Amino acid sequence: MLYRRFGQTDLNLSVFSLGTMRALSDPQTLAQTVAKAFSLGINHIETARAYGNSQVYLGQTLKDLGYQRESFYLTSKISPVGESSKFRSFLEESLAQLQIDYLDCLAIHGINQWQHLEWVSQNWPMLESLRAEGLFRHLGFSTHGPLDLISCAIDTDYFSFVNLHYYYFFQHNRPAILQAQSKDLGVFIISPADKGGMLHQSPELLQHITKPLSPLELNYLFLLEDPCISTLSIGPANSQEMIIPSSLFEQLTNSRQEIYEQLNNRMNESLGSELCKQCYQCLPCPEDINIPEVLRLRNLALAYNMDRFAQYRYAMFENAGHWFTGKKAINCSECGDCLPRCPERLNIPSLLFDAHHRFVQDKGGRRLWQED
Ligand code: SF4
Ligand code: SF4
Repeated sequence: MLYRRFGQTDLNLSVFSLGTMRALSDPQTLAQTVAKAFSLGINHIETARAYGNSQVYLGQTLKDLGYQRESFYLTSKISPVGESSKFRSFLEESLAQLQIDYLDCLAIHGINQWQHLEWVSQNWPMLESLRAEGLFRHLGFSTHGPLDLISCAIDTDYFSFVNLHYYYFFQHNRPAILQAQSKDLGVFIISPADKGGMLHQSPELLQHITKPLSPLELNYLFLLEDPCISTLSIGPANSQEMIIPSSLFEQLTNSRQEIYEQLNNRMNESLGSELCKQCYQCLPCPEDINIPEVLRLRNLALAYNMDRFAQYRYAMFENAGHWFTGKKAINCSECGDCLPRCPERLNIPSLLFDAHHRFVQDKGGRRLWQED
């Protein structure tokens, strides 16, 4: 295992962190998963008040396994809602469920909208007081929000770390990563395997392009080669899925330039004049369609056969509230507002309708607590 300083928290975290959202089927599964993670050298576990029984099971597991409190770091997340007294009671409940006296890291769970950041501003004295009382040591936030909101949240100087989406196949948040580094924030990446492209089950074509690495290894290495990034979450459903590729760290010093070029070439050849370059200049859309995200999914499906991932994410539009915003592409009214803003001169409505028909599924997206 490698360890990195988690920004200004000064915690020395393993570069992989155990996310406990999926290992919830029963206490025994969680116990085996935690034991396996510790045996691999992982010293940071993440949970959340919103993850069902996760905190309760985790608290019991850590007690049963008999690890010293100082030998691991715990992060839990609480949503920015309600009165300050509620937040205090939520935090106290988390500590009681986890059977600990303090959290190493407390994250505001989901600064996804401006009102969430306003909630933090309004409740800042309360948060400071909870920290002064020793209930937690470092404050950060997780986010699925737009880049300008993430940037503003980082700029407030309220936070010591950020937990966000950023992957080889989604690099739009790069400016936030650099900004976090300039402010010495710890950077914790959400689920590179699943949210990074369902890379545990990647299509054969993608596996062929990234050889000799697997697509998941490539994504891990892409993230770990970046000194701005502190730790990546792994969210296994059980101990068998708690896998870190054995030669991963040895490969960090190798160049991956050739693979990146092959991926780029494949993207350019497959999409041709229909390639969305993810500049985000087409927004806003009066029908609230997240044009760049729909077209990113279309890019990935056409270039790398990542249709399953695209369908999974597309199904979340209109089904996941502020965790995944925007309407489905079929709502495009063809008003034309976005067209002059696109430097690639893409026929956006036509590409959106095509994406909708490729990705539409009968069933809705995942439940909110499954989101990160
Ligand atoms: S043409 Fe469609 S996608 Fe473009 S701004 Fe109008 S409604 Fe939105
Ligand atoms: S402006 Fe054009 S290239 Fe840029 S994100 Fe929008 S659709 Fe894609």
